[in-house]
Amino acid sequence: MPHDDFPAGSVWLVGAGPGDPDLLTRKAARLIGAAEVVFYDALVGPGVLDLIAPGAERVSVGKRSGRHSKDQGTIDALIVAAALSGKRIVRLKGGDPAIFGRTAEEVAACNAAGVAVRICPGITAASAAVASAGTSLTLRGIARRLTLVTAHAQAGQPIDLDWDVLAAPDATLAIYMGRAAAATVAQQLIAAGRAAETPVLVVVNASLPDERIIRGRLSALAFLVEAISASDPAVLIVGEAVAGGAPSRVARGTALSVVG
Ligand code: SAH
Repeated sequence: MPHDDFPAGSVWLVGAGPGDPDLLTRKAARLIGAAEVVFYDALVGPGVLDLIAPGAERVSVGKRSGRHSKDQGTIDALIVAAALSGKRIVRLKGGDPAIFGRTAEEVAACNAAGVAVRICPGITAASAAVASAGTSLTLRGIARRLTLVTAHAQAGQPIDLDWDVLAAPDATLAIYMGRAAAATVAQQLIAAGRAAETPVLVVVNASLPDERIIRGRLSALAFLVEAISASDPAVLIVGEAVAGGAPSRVARGTALSVVG
C-alpha cells in the first residue's frame, strides 16, 4: 500500500530502538528505507543502518558520552537545511525519540523554519533491558511508579535530583546515562532512605549481540558498573520490580552473581 506521509522536504524523527533491528517498528523500517538523507546518532545499531536505501546520504551526528561530534544547534541546522533542499529526511535516534533525545529542540527548529516534522516512537532502553532480563519495570502492588531519570552530570557538578522522591520504596528508577554517577546515585538514594538491599539490574548494550546483564543490590551499584566501558551504553534499573527474572549474564554462556 502506498503511503503519503513522507512528502519531499519533510522530516521524520524516528526511534531506532535499543539496537536490534528486529525491535524497530514496521513504520520506522519503512521510513528509514524511504529517506533520502538519514542523520543518525552513535547509539543507532549497525543492523538498523543497513535498512537505509543504497543511494541515500548517511550523516553521522554521533553523540557519545563526553564526545559530542556536533553540537545540538549544528544538528538542528543540518536537518533543517537538508529538508529545505527538498529531500525526505529521517533523523534516527536511539531508543524512543521522546526520552532523553533532544527531540523538542529538533521539532522547534523544524517548526521555526516551516519544515513539516513528525515523530515515530521507538522502544526505549529501559523496556529492552527488563525484557532481556526476563523481568518487569512495575510489580503489582509493590512497584507502582516508574521514573525515568538521567544521572548525567557535568564534570565536578553535583547531580541535581530530588533524592527523597526517588528513594520511595514503591518507585522503580530507570537511570539513563548513569554509569559514571552510579556511586553517587547509590549513596544519595540510601542516604534518603532507600534500602541498601534494593535489587538493581544493569543492562549493557541491551538487545545487541554483546549484551550484558548484571544483577545485584543498591549498596553494590558502584561495583556492578565498574567493568563497563564508557563507550558501551548501560541502563541502571533500581527497585523491587527487577528482583525476579533470569540470572546475570556477562558474556555468552557465562554467569555472574553479585551479592551486595
Ligand atoms: N532515547 C534513548 C535514550 C538516549 S540517552 C532511549 O529511549 O533509549 C542514552 C542512554 O540511553 C545511554 O547512556 C544508556 O543509558 C541508554 N541506552 C541507550 N541504548 C541502550 C542500550 N542498547 N542498552 C543499554 N542502555 C542503553
